Amino acid sequence: MAGRKVYLDNAATTYVSSEVLNEMLPCFNVLFGNPNSIHSFGREASSIVDRARDRIATAINAKDSNEIYFTSGGSEADNWAVKGLAHAYSFKGKHIITSSIEHHAVLDACSVLEKEGFDITYLPVDKYGLVNIAELLHAIRKDTILISIMSVNNEVGTIQNVKTIAKIAHENNILFHTDAVQALGAVKIDVQDMEIDALSISAHKIYGPKGCGALYLKNGLKIDNLIDGGSQERGKRGGTLNVPAIAGFGKAVEIAVRDLSVNQQKLKIIREYFLSKVRDNIDYIHINGHPQQKVQGTLSISFEMIEGESLLMLLDLDGVAVSTSSACTSNSLQPSHVLKAMGIEDEIAQGTVRFSFGKNTSKADVDYAVEVLINSVKKLRAISPITKAGRR
Ligand SMILES: *Cc1c(COP(=O)(O)O)cnc(C)c1O
Repeated sequence: MAGRKVYLDNAATTYVSSEVLNEMLPCFNVLFGNPNSIHSFGREASSIVDRARDRIATAINAKDSNEIYFTSGGSEADNWAVKGLAHAYSFKGKHIITSSIEHHAVLDACSVLEKEGFDITYLPVDKYGLVNIAELLHAIRKDTILISIMSVNNEVGTIQNVKTIAKIAHENNILFHTDAVQALGAVKIDVQDMEIDALSISAHKIYGPKGCGALYLKNGLKIDNLIDGGSQERGKRGGTLNVPAIAGFGKAVEIAVRDLSVNQQKLKIIREYFLSKVRDNIDYIHINGHPQQKVQGTLSISFEMIEGESLLMLLDLDGVAVSTSSACTSNSLQPSHVLKAMGIEDEIAQGTVRFSFGKNTSKADVDYAVEVLINSVKKLRAISPITKAGRR
C-alpha cells in the first residue's frame, strides 16, 4: 500500500480532465492570438472565446452569450458581483442581505462595503445550513438593493432554495446574486427559470483550469467595473483574455452539465459506500449538512475527541488528501464560520474533516482511504486530551 495516493479534496480543486486539456493545448502555441487583435490570429482566438461563451451560456440557459463575462475565477466573480452591483445601485439604497455561511469572497467583499457605509445583514442558517425564508423576509427593508446567497455550500454541500429566494428578491424589487461555484455540474442551473440576476462560477472545481471563471449578469443590469483597463468584455472587465483557460472552461462546463446526473449518481454511490464503512468502524461521529438537500460529492464529518488538523496531517502521511473546513482558512485554527453558523459547538467543529469525492474516485480508493482513516482516528483518540468520561 505504500506510496498510494487518494485525493478526496475535489471541492478544493479538481484535476483537469483530458478532454478539457485537449481543448486547451492548441491555444498555447498554435491558436495563440490576442482576441482583441483585428488580424486573422486575433479573429481565430476571438472565435475560440465566442465558442466557450456560447457553451457556458447554453449550459446555464442564459438568454444571450453576452451575459457571460470571463473573470480570473470564482473569487473575482463574487467580488465583482457584490461590489459592482452595490456601487451601481447605491442610489437606491445601501442595504445588502447575505448569509453567514458564504464563501469568504462574498463575506470579505461585504465587509469592504460595510467600511464604505453599506449596511449588511448576515442571515443565520439552521443546523443543516439552510437559510430560513421567514428570516429573509424579515430582513428585507425599503433600502435593500441586493441579496447574495450561495447555491451550494462548499464545506457541507447543503443546497439552498435559490429559486424561492430569487423570487422573494424580485417581489421586493431587489437584485439577486448567487455564488454557484459548487453548484455547477452538481445541480441544474437555469438562470431564466430561477430568475437569477448574477451568478458566479469557476473552472477548476469542474475539471477545468485554475484562474478562470465567469460572472453571468442578466442583460440590462448595471454593474461598476472591478478591473478597469481596456475594451475587453464589452468594456466591463479590462485585461487580455486567458484564451487557453477560457477554451478549457467552456469545454468543462459543457461536459459537467452533459454528465450531471451520471456523475451525481456515481458520487452518491461512492459517498454512501464510504460513509457506511466509516459508520461501521468509527464511533462518535456527526455528519454535517442537510441529509437530503445536498450535493452528492461532499461529505463533512465531525470526529469527537479529535483535532481536524491533526487528522488531516495523519491522513496526508498515508497519501489521503482531505480538507478541514475550507482550504482558504486552513492555515488558521479558527473553527469554520460555516459550522459555527450551523450551531455546532467549537469542540466538535474543530474535529471536522471534509471528504469530497471526484468522478474518478474508485471503490478501491475508498477502501484504502477508510482503512487509513480508521487507523488515524484510533491513533489520535488514544492520545487525545479531549476525552469524555465513558467515551473511550
Ligand atoms: C472555490 C470557491 C470559490 C472561489 O473560486 P476560485 O475560482 O477559487 O476563486 C468561491 N465560492 C465557492 C463556493 C467556492 O467553492
